[in-house]
Amino acid sequence: MDVHRLRNLHRPDVLKARLEREGVPRTTLSFYRYVRLKEVEALRHELYSEWEALGVLGRVYLSQEGINAQVSLPTQNLDHFRTALDSREAFQGVPWKIAVEDDGKSFLKLAIKVKKKIVADGLADDAFDVTNVGEHLDAATFNQKMAEGALVIDMRNNYECLIGHFEGAYLPKADTFRGAIEEVREVMKEKKNAEVLLYCTGGIRCEKASAYLKHEGFTNVGQLHGGIIDYARQIRAQGLASKYKGQNFVFDERLAERITDDVVSTCMQCGTKSDRISNCQEVTCNMLLVQCEACAEKYAECCSPSCREIHLLPEEVQRSWRKGRSTRSTKTKAINDPEGLRRRIREEEELLTLNGTLHPELTGISP
Ligand SMILES: [Zn+2]
Ligand SMILES: [Zn+2]
Repeated sequence: MDVHRLRNLHRPDVLKARLEREGVPRTTLSFYRYVRLKEVEALRHELYSEWEALGVLGRVYLSQEGINAQVSLPTQNLDHFRTALDSREAFQGVPWKIAVEDDGKSFLKLAIKVKKKIVADGLADDAFDVTNVGEHLDAATFNQKMAEGALVIDMRNNYECLIGHFEGAYLPKADTFRGAIEEVREVMKEKKNAEVLLYCTGGIRCEKASAYLKHEGFTNVGQLHGGIIDYARQIRAQGLASKYKGQNFVFDERLAERITDDVVSTCMQCGTKSDRISNCQEVTCNMLLVQCEACAEKYAECCSPSCREIHLLPEEVQRSWRKGRSTRSTKTKAINDPEGLRRRIREEEELLTLNGTLHPELTGISP
């Protein structure tokens, strides 16, 4: 087998055009399983050939501990894909979750990566029993237990909780899974005997989080089976009231899918109600923002006047400006401190009025 052919070699614009031309409806779905896999490299190559032939695109992590996949494929091939999965003992009957709101353009290529772990959680797994997980709860039971007063904990990162979450849930300030899990242990340390309910996007992080909390002495831990994605599906199928409000943050180009019409967040720049999520368009900044339509227009889809000034320059000038500059690690910076961002914007606007520029270093840069 020519291993070098088993990966994508095209540029993004070529891939985008290919997807536009395809003209068949696609379904986006995700699944994972903790399962012992052997000869992971060889398996990766087999899956790549097999799935590529079915038009599968997406991001897949394989490791000795299992598989974690987010993919899209032509809807007409769903049955084939199911058969292909079921024909392998390790993946037989693995439940998948279909994304509810989806234009099928979530992924541009197929990437299957061999990793040490299927979720980068930063936890020392050998220190606790990862199979001693919390009780799996379906949507109706989760709602019921919430009504009875159980504590609800969001196991996602701060930027994922922003635009949607369960009513009254504890929302971590940390921006990594490991940070979130340690924060929760600390914040809840007096409540080890309370009933706690965990949830995350697709359920996979709660497997680890619940096992970890049980190891830490929590006695009554439940977790939302299939995560928010499957909760939304069950709510719709059974006509239940959604206690999850707003949008679900997802890890593809869409950034979010709507679960209910509630708007639970505010624009980081002006403070009005908004759950429009985007990244600062100044490419070295790329900060994740909740930004209302009016601010998007005012700041040219950027986080600040400073980034706007760069972003609005001719592309060649931007390129010269970027030369030798490293990408700033501002991606999640404003989330816990939107007031700080607003202060910076006010200061920058004053300077801009005074000096006509926020980037004096631009003088002398020519394309
Ligand atoms: Zn705004
Ligand atoms: Zn920016």
